[in-house]
Amino acid sequence: MRDGRFAPSPTGSLHLGNLRTALLAWLFARSAEPVGTSGARFVVRMEDMDRDRFREGIEEEQLADLRCLGLDWDGPVVRQTERLDLYEEAISHLDEAGMLYPCYCTRREIRKAVSAPHGPISMSYPGTCRRLTSRERAGLEAAGRKPSLRVRAEGLTASFEDRILGYREGGSDDFVVRRNDGSPAYQLTVVVDDAEQGIREVVRGDDLADSTPRQLILHRMLGLSEPGYAHVPLVLGPDGERLAKRHGERHGGITLSDRLRAGERPEGVLGWMALSLGLAEPGESLTAEDLIPRFDPDRLPREPAVWRPEG
Ligand code: GLU
Repeated sequence: MRDGRFAPSPTGSLHLGNLRTALLAWLFARSAEPVGTSGARFVVRMEDMDRDRFREGIEEEQLADLRCLGLDWDGPVVRQTERLDLYEEAISHLDEAGMLYPCYCTRREIRKAVSAPHGPISMSYPGTCRRLTSRERAGLEAAGRKPSLRVRAEGLTASFEDRILGYREGGSDDFVVRRNDGSPAYQLTVVVDDAEQGIREVVRGDDLADSTPRQLILHRMLGLSEPGYAHVPLVLGPDGERLAKRHGERHGGITLSDRLRAGERPEGVLGWMALSLGLAEPGESLTAEDLIPRFDPDRLPREPAVWRPEG
């Protein structure tokens, strides 16, 4: 069973690229071979932990977009802000195993510490707070510094067989699992949620492929079962850059409501997505349901798609 999910952050409108990823995640789940009597579940999870970037009304808009494209989901929408206990439990588990340490570094200090005079800047955490003495910690606390919590993962590696990218492996630094405002960090919440929700196949944009080794390391530390991964190619603008708002300026915009306002129909938008995935002929207009029998994960394009305003 390949239970899947779509996990947007309610921080801004979904654009055609995000919606194409949602369509793919839905197709992976909905076209999975039924095991027993029921097919794979598809769930929607709102990754709403980042309260600084949270925007009122965006969740409703994102869900309306999915519905408008005929992408349905099973069970209630899950919100991370309603599951804080689960994340705290995982953090305590890591802490009891001696895997965490407080880090007092600011972003600027890390940037300064890792910018080699003659080389590329690596944003890996250099381990500054790993070996602080308790006296040094007390000093930093007394100075009003609020620590984040980092997991001891430097030097660990993980590999996985991605359904689209093939074999991948990568290393890790000591990354943050709880931010200094007390909220759990993405790398932790995503792991806890995927395991707790029984997700067997994570389908998401390939910009997140580099995060996967860290997430697998956490799955292992927490003794949670690991999902499979399919990192799907992104949609680019005509200039070859990742699709962004500016690509839609002067052409009516790149969100679903922009496209509908510009006179397109949901079937037409889906038709473009399907064409870009090799699942439809030019000009075909269809429903998401129509794509299920045509979908073959092994024949997906490996290359990014380019959105051209003229269609
Ligand atoms: N919430 C993340 C985003 O909107 C996606 C995380 C994931 O799919 O693992 O980019």
